[in-house]
Amino acid sequence: MPFTLTGIAVSRGIAIGRAHLIAPAPIEVRHYLVEPDKTEVEVSRLQAAIEEVRDELVSLRGNLPKDAPEEMAAFLDVHAMFLKDEMIAEAPAELIRLRSYNAEWALTHQLEELVRQFDEIGDAYLCERKADVVQVVDRVLKALAGARPDLPIVSADQDAPMIVVAHDISPADMLKFKDRAFAGFATDLGGKTSHTAIVARSLDIPAAVGLVNASALIRQDDWLIVDGDSGTVIVNPTPIVLDEYRDRQSPHQLQLKKLQRLRFAPTQTLDGVPIALEANIELPEDAPHALESGAVGIGLFRSEFLFMNRKGDLPGEEEQFGAYRSVVESMRGLPVTIRTVDVGADKPLDADMPGNQTSALGLRAIRWSLSDPQMFLTQLRALLRASAFGKVRILLPMLAHSKEIDQTLDLLERARAELDQEGLPYDPNVEVGAMIEIPAAALALPMFLRRLNFLSVGTNDLIQYTLAVDRADGAVAHLYDPLHPAVLNLIARTIHEAKQAGLPVAVCGEMAGDPTMTRLLLGMGLTEFSLHPIQLLAVKQEILHADAARLSKVVDRLLAACEPEELQAELESLRAA
Ligand code: PEP
Ligand code: MG
Repeated sequence: MPFTLTGIAVSRGIAIGRAHLIAPAPIEVRHYLVEPDKTEVEVSRLQAAIEEVRDELVSLRGNLPKDAPEEMAAFLDVHAMFLKDEMIAEAPAELIRLRSYNAEWALTHQLEELVRQFDEIGDAYLCERKADVVQVVDRVLKALAGARPDLPIVSADQDAPMIVVAHDISPADMLKFKDRAFAGFATDLGGKTSHTAIVARSLDIPAAVGLVNASALIRQDDWLIVDGDSGTVIVNPTPIVLDEYRDRQSPHQLQLKKLQRLRFAPTQTLDGVPIALEANIELPEDAPHALESGAVGIGLFRSEFLFMNRKGDLPGEEEQFGAYRSVVESMRGLPVTIRTVDVGADKPLDADMPGNQTSALGLRAIRWSLSDPQMFLTQLRALLRASAFGKVRILLPMLAHSKEIDQTLDLLERARAELDQEGLPYDPNVEVGAMIEIPAAALALPMFLRRLNFLSVGTNDLIQYTLAVDRADGAVAHLYDPLHPAVLNLIARTIHEAKQAGLPVAVCGEMAGDPTMTRLLLGMGLTEFSLHPIQLLAVKQEILHADAARLSKVVDRLLAACEPEELQAELESLRAA
């Protein structure tokens, strides 16, 4: 039966393929007592669920693809056998009759008992059987919940594009997908600017997040349509719906092709204001794509991605130097802005690493770097050494306090002195800039303007901290509003004050890559955008059709608007200006 799940749109386009489930969510089990005269009804409910799972396993066994591994058949037989065994077919039913437990309670109670017995035996072979029992019970619980149980990992159609379905995917795990072809992804958790969504967007893969229970309701190998424009996922669509979406896929691809024509056009507005479009990257291997897309430099290299998937260590100076140098060399003389490590919140390091902070208000980003000066010095030395091979700019994340800037500049001075002593070359004029992503920073800008060489507005965090809305939490995604008057005013005043002081200022948050925001940012006077290479041409198209002077007048009125209707009206005039 087809059904639709609705979540949050995070990466445009339409993907059609088969579900590949990873780390499905554990099913939530309710415990309650049934009325004494309803126990037989409850027993029947349990037996019907067991029957449903058994039928499913038998059908799957009968339809195994010819090239399926042999163990798959044996594995299905073992599961079907467990379902017939007294320990699952009978014992939970007895618990319902004797103790009036609901079916789920009786089943999990029995499972706990079985797991305890397996653990006591402590035999390796039996340990594997324990995992089988757990999986079988999980399937029955899902059947009781009305969800179809997920099937073992065996693809019925090896050629179909793969769509990843998960409860959640960490940015570190997303990275692992970078070199594997997959067509889309859908997760239970997440928000529009969570880092997982950002990586999906940078890969130009249609994605929907915040789907709540997709990983419980979708089965392995189900056919899926991920509509990344609306944030919906259609499960097992009918042939008519499939055809309709296939038709919709083509114009999107055609549009992307058409945009290629703009690659070599100079980026300027209709009234002749030159605009710099730079690239956001996560890994050194992204740099060549940035160059191909026509970016005039790297505006944000999120160096923290080098610190992920490390299995217990952090990259040393040589490794970091190699990575930074390779980006600098790939960019052939164009400026490369490398941000020092910004870990924490929804970008944790591996579980057992120091600094594995999950709080957005905790010891993250520059705070984490400064908490271990020797480690920070290692990164600063590597950055300086890379500057001998091209134009490097150092960007500092999450600054709010003058002492954070001072401490960092002191460490940088120390790194320079050490390199001088060792005779290692570096560019003595490396510029140092600040991410403006905490409202305190935007409101105390002179402190930054005096000490640093450039600014880059991180709208993703600026919105999160201004509105007190967790950017990775789907439950509050409706409140994550880039157009909130407070957010707009903070961005506009940062651009204005920086320009007045003669300091370069860019926007590198996701707003810079959203073509629906381009006119607004141009109207605020922004001339430097840093965005994913994949978004560059769509934003460029907007710029080529915009008149910056006219937009500026509308934006002045828009910034004075506080009521939603007023703001809406000005946004409409922005589109027409
Ligand atoms: C931002 O906060 O806008 C930003 C660019 O940094 P990140 O998304 O990596 O937090
Ligand atoms: Mg940030």
